[in-house]
Amino acid sequence: MALMFRNTLTNKKEEFIPIEPGKVGLYTCGPTVYNFAHVGNFRAYMFEDLLRRFLKFKGFDVTQIMNLTDIDDKTIRDSQAEGITLKEFTARYIKAFFEDLDTLGIERAEEYPAATDHIPEMVEIIKKLVANGLAYESDGSYYFRISAFKDYGKLANLDMSGLKAGARVASDEYEKDSVSDFALWKAWSEEDGDVFWETEIGKGRPGWHIECSAMSTKLLGNHFDIHTGGIDNMFPHHENEIAQTEGATGEKFVNYWMHCEYLIVEGRKMSKSMGNYYTLRDLTDKGYSGKAVRYLLLASHYRAQLNFTFDGLSAASSSLERYNDFVNNLEAYGGGESDGSSKSAIDKMLTGFEAALDDDLNISGALGAIFDFIREINSLRDEGKLSIEDRDSVLEAMARVDTVLNFRSEKGVLDSDIEEMIVKRNEARKARDFALSDKIRDDLIEMGIFLEDTPDGVRWKRKV
Ligand code: AMP
Ligand code: ZN
Repeated sequence: MALMFRNTLTNKKEEFIPIEPGKVGLYTCGPTVYNFAHVGNFRAYMFEDLLRRFLKFKGFDVTQIMNLTDIDDKTIRDSQAEGITLKEFTARYIKAFFEDLDTLGIERAEEYPAATDHIPEMVEIIKKLVANGLAYESDGSYYFRISAFKDYGKLANLDMSGLKAGARVASDEYEKDSVSDFALWKAWSEEDGDVFWETEIGKGRPGWHIECSAMSTKLLGNHFDIHTGGIDNMFPHHENEIAQTEGATGEKFVNYWMHCEYLIVEGRKMSKSMGNYYTLRDLTDKGYSGKAVRYLLLASHYRAQLNFTFDGLSAASSSLERYNDFVNNLEAYGGGESDGSSKSAIDKMLTGFEAALDDDLNISGALGAIFDFIREINSLRDEGKLSIEDRDSVLEAMARVDTVLNFRSEKGVLDSDIEEMIVKRNEARKARDFALSDKIRDDLIEMGIFLEDTPDGVRWKRKV
């Protein structure tokens, strides 16, 4: 089946056809490194991880670029508040960002260019825009003249009829109702302190939007395949990127724009300004694993809002555990007599998985195919109808889908090992050898297994 993506630019689901066969140029807007990213931000990066990994699963050679916004209104404001340089300030959060990507099992992009390393490239684009009549200077700052760019508004479907000619907006972020000429370059003002560059277009610093035009075209060319971000990036950020880039190059910028919906909390977007956010560290400190958060963020469709709750996170943990237990227990399986039916189950699972993701990354369908498969194989195994060769093919198929999902945990402890230790602990308790029974309990805790004594005997749980 053809690979289909919903393209924000056309508002349609379209077949994905790369510019160069077999290759994909992918640009993903990265973090503004002024604080720890929250799990809402990671929803966007997780969607991009799914996209990247699935494209690779399909055999594409992917070049993904993610920028680091290490200069903007917020980074300057907060570094000054702390009294440290912008570089020192952002370095702290860049480091934290990469640690968090690892905790979540997000695969690294090919490059993470930083905005402050690309000031000359941004100045070049601004000069071209001025030459093309699309930008103008005012008090040392430069603005994009949106009335001169006929396609302005095509991504966000803006109604441009009520536009006030010459109205300007200097801040990096603004709402649709203040659509107006936006800042490409901001002349130095005292508020910026020691943050400025002396350039051909004067002393100052770039606006936010221009950085992505400069870094994407430098690293992927003027025209490339896919550009993504969270839905809030669509306007004004991506609309402005299109205007700046197409206005400077005269070529079509990007073929497919894809945007993921918000992670919400009680009906509202998770965001720093609202204060309703959790960082990844908040969740791991509560005992949730990075893979459980990964499961939660990945398991619902990227174009549907995802409501964050701790119940949802616990449910994600349980599903993740089922997935891992299945593989762990199969690895320890001794084998039986094949009845030949595992092969068709494998084919059905792999076909279902790929067909679902081909359909605009329908992850629920893909996970559904896997959990049906798990049930089917478990019953074959329980009936002794799975041979060692069958088992190996099942494990191979699971490893294949795991290149996309990355749900496998490194330290899998087998159910059978746990149960054996619990039996030994019970025996020790009966023999009143409490030193030994306590030691076994502590060893289990070390392995992330918690015991609960109930009237029906000992129950155990994995750490979520
Ligand atoms: P920022 O650091 O604010 O520029 O955001 C980085 C990325 O996270 C962008 O792609 C945003 O669209 C995305 N983002 C921010 N908040 C959320 C949220 N609550 N849900 C999903 N994506 C978000
Ligand atoms: Zn961007």
